[in-house]
Amino acid sequence: MKNREQYIESLKNLKTQVYYFGKRIDNIIEHPSFKPHINSAALTYELANMPEYEELLTATSHLTGKKINRFTHIHQSTEDLVKKVKALRLLGQKTGACFQRCVGWDALNATYTVTYEMDQKYGTDYHKRFLEYLKFVQENDLMIAGSMTDPKGDRSLRPSQQADPDLYVHIVEKNDKGIVVRGAKAHQTGIINSHEMIVMPTIAMGEEDKDYAVVFAIPVDTEGVIHIFGRQTNDSRRFEEGEIDKGNYKYGIVGGEALTIFNDVFVPWERVFMCGEFDYAGLLVERFASYHRQNYGGCKTGVSDVIIGSAVAIAEYNGVAKASHVRDKIVEMVHLAETLYCGSIACSAEGFPTPSGAYFVNPLLANTVKQNVTRYIYEICRLCHDIAGGIIATLPSEADLKNEEIGPYIEKYLKGVADVSTEDRIRILRLIENMTGGTALVESMHGAGSPQAQRIMILRQANLNQKKKLAEDLAGIKKEH
Ligand code: SF4
Ligand code: FE
Repeated sequence: MKNREQYIESLKNLKTQVYYFGKRIDNIIEHPSFKPHINSAALTYELANMPEYEELLTATSHLTGKKINRFTHIHQSTEDLVKKVKALRLLGQKTGACFQRCVGWDALNATYTVTYEMDQKYGTDYHKRFLEYLKFVQENDLMIAGSMTDPKGDRSLRPSQQADPDLYVHIVEKNDKGIVVRGAKAHQTGIINSHEMIVMPTIAMGEEDKDYAVVFAIPVDTEGVIHIFGRQTNDSRRFEEGEIDKGNYKYGIVGGEALTIFNDVFVPWERVFMCGEFDYAGLLVERFASYHRQNYGGCKTGVSDVIIGSAVAIAEYNGVAKASHVRDKIVEMVHLAETLYCGSIACSAEGFPTPSGAYFVNPLLANTVKQNVTRYIYEICRLCHDIAGGIIATLPSEADLKNEEIGPYIEKYLKGVADVSTEDRIRILRLIENMTGGTALVESMHGAGSPQAQRIMILRQANLNQKKKLAEDLAGIKKEH
């Protein structure tokens, strides 16, 4: 297993093409815009090496019997699925941010299960190829980006019907050595500081979309791959001196997402895990999406724990901690956060083995958790804003606080209770501003798929006919079904 330093060191060997603010970035390690995301992902390595977290953050490889970082593990039981959720909550609490590595983990598990089933039907050898890749990932403790979302162009048209055929990643050439792919993937969490990426289709495909039914893995610095890093709320504060105005200055907000372009990229056959089997694209999307939706009552509950903690702190600093309505709002925040956690634990406890032996979550419950996240996180943040007060939107800057002439006015007039310094009060307010606004909220809405994507899955899994029959039986309605 790699430790924190080895992970960061290993990124230096990559020649990843990253663009940000109109410029090519050569050194992401020391760049203020990437450092927080790297710190956050690095914690998945650091904690795995600490004895107190070994149980949650490491596992035994079912392939080699070796101890591995859990983020490269294939779930072997419902206990593994439950540990996943607990590990994510822990990391959410420690970072207050997205630590990015779960997307690739879910891609590993989804690809593992689907390649097995594809081989059973078609006699292909994708699963065997994938096992070799998995061993390589586990042995080198790699961070993988899970690349699913295509830009999608006109949403009413299939991939093959688009005016521009590249709006979904597709195969443009096949030869005896491998395939050549073109297209792009959007919202790529953590990809800038990953080693590898697993590219998957984003929707179910029909026969006419055959060339779009493709799964493969490549290093993120493969020739022809370009990453354009996205902006986040208040990201230019990262170029400023000081740490207070940055809020969660150590770990940032969300994952650090990029638009990743594939300019006729070559992929050797041993790294191709689906190539035209369009009837399995939908299953892969469903597996990946459900695994990823399982996560959200883990990581987002951990992040909510920090938001609730900020609300408790600022209530104390403002001298309102004992007000009954404030206590009640905090109870509500806890209730919402724990409801999310319940859903993630439940979909894990109700997991079951797939034909490959790897365990899958209960998809109805996993989609329900994520649907709740799209609402409850907004409500948790709303309550936090309510408790903190309007000052989160009107605070002077750190530079003003440190200014000799006007700093003392800020010290004096922005003081809360006597025994808490004005600076500490401002620090908590900035953390709240950072964790509860803009980019962070949108991530809760659309990360792991938009609400409507979950509703489609919920409807599909809901078994409404069986529910109707329950009602008809109790009402004494006798008819043939
Ligand atoms: Fe992991 Fe959560 Fe970030 Fe998704 S949003 S990558 S589940 S930490
Ligand atoms: Fe996410």
